[in-house]
Amino acid sequence: MLKVTKFGGSSMADAGQYIKVRDILMSDKARQVAIVSAAGKRNSGDHKITDLLYLCHAHTQYGVACDPVFEMITSRYIEIRDELGIQLDLETEFAELKKRLDAKQVTQDEMASRGEYFSAKLMAAFLGFEFVDAVDWVFFNIDGTVDTEKSYKAFCDKAKGKCVVTPGFYGVMPDGSIRTFSRGGSDITGSLAAAALDADVYENWTDVSGILMADPRIVENPHPIAEITYEELRELAYAGANVLHEGAIYPVRKKNIPLNIRNTNDPANPGTMIKKHFETEVDPHRIITGIAGKKDFSIITIFKRGLTNQVGILRRILSVLEKHGVSVEFVPNGMDNVSLAIPTDKLTPHLYAILADIQQEIAPDNITVHDQISVITAVGHQMKFRPGVSGKIFAALGQAGINIRMINQGPDELNIIFGVENKDFAEAIRVLYNSFIK
Ligand code: ASP
Repeated sequence: MLKVTKFGGSSMADAGQYIKVRDILMSDKARQVAIVSAAGKRNSGDHKITDLLYLCHAHTQYGVACDPVFEMITSRYIEIRDELGIQLDLETEFAELKKRLDAKQVTQDEMASRGEYFSAKLMAAFLGFEFVDAVDWVFFNIDGTVDTEKSYKAFCDKAKGKCVVTPGFYGVMPDGSIRTFSRGGSDITGSLAAAALDADVYENWTDVSGILMADPRIVENPHPIAEITYEELRELAYAGANVLHEGAIYPVRKKNIPLNIRNTNDPANPGTMIKKHFETEVDPHRIITGIAGKKDFSIITIFKRGLTNQVGILRRILSVLEKHGVSVEFVPNGMDNVSLAIPTDKLTPHLYAILADIQQEIAPDNITVHDQISVITAVGHQMKFRPGVSGKIFAALGQAGINIRMINQGPDELNIIFGVENKDFAEAIRVLYNSFIK
């Protein structure tokens, strides 16, 4: 049995958290591999080390001294080391980094990666595990994708049968330079490590006891999700739920490795288990697995008589968006109209050029643009073949006086997506939650 574990920034924030991580690892012999993030916030007013690293780099780029910020970074790690009595020379490495930074020899990605690097060095020394640097096994292709075959082989060579700690978030480019994933990317490293070693489970340790059915800032005490499929999770993450980095799902899903989200501050809680599918019975109270949403969409609606009968017209409309490099999130359509839902911040810089091009391309009867739209998604694999779910959603919203501006359902019936005005966003989520969750 092998469990690959990943500990996020809040689990690495101070010496007290390191002790919790050690206790979690020591309580189960199967937990032999740990991927760690940079130190996160210790309290709401605190700073994430990764943010400070980016800040330092930006200072030096503009020729402004970053010494006080650099000092905040070094002192955080040195404090953890000294509180835990770990024997490790960090000072020499920090001094070397600062020298190269001042000489503008450190790229932004390399600088950002140092948070995970120092976390992993410290944690490995604290646990007595071997340190495996991510540059020795996470290999990027020139286009920024990961060469999984090469990476998996390298990690197997370095980590199989051993107890190791490896930093999350970064790897190496073919030219030897350091490259990071996008923010939150240590989740991806953990997933790659689990896939490389064919682990029995990938445990992602964070500061919440799994995924909740809705945002707790909107719904009071939402139920936790005990079990969810990879597909449902992807939909929820895409719809706006802030859970895992989207890129973390693919490597474990491909190898059918269950992913378990756990809480470092409440290790007895089983958290959320994510798998391909579950054998459990259909629970009539759990038709919907979760609800998520995003605000601030714009909806362009194009009216043209007989639009759906015209061959190639959708392609021509979408090619305008492609030309301007704008991706469309939803495309609900009627007989004489089609709508394009696009995040407002992505659309605004190109809006007038896009409207002019659509005008020229298809000569529509009319085009309207509505801003301040929220898109809410109800996700649940049990909605499939179950009549009446959307009816129930729309009846509940109607009773609450919430006007629906757009409706869409994915062809796999895994989700129902609808648009409401921004002002109705929170209420729509609450109404939906309360009408489905008893
Ligand atoms: N430390 C990085 C960030 O703050 C990566 C991670 O924690 O996953 O985004």
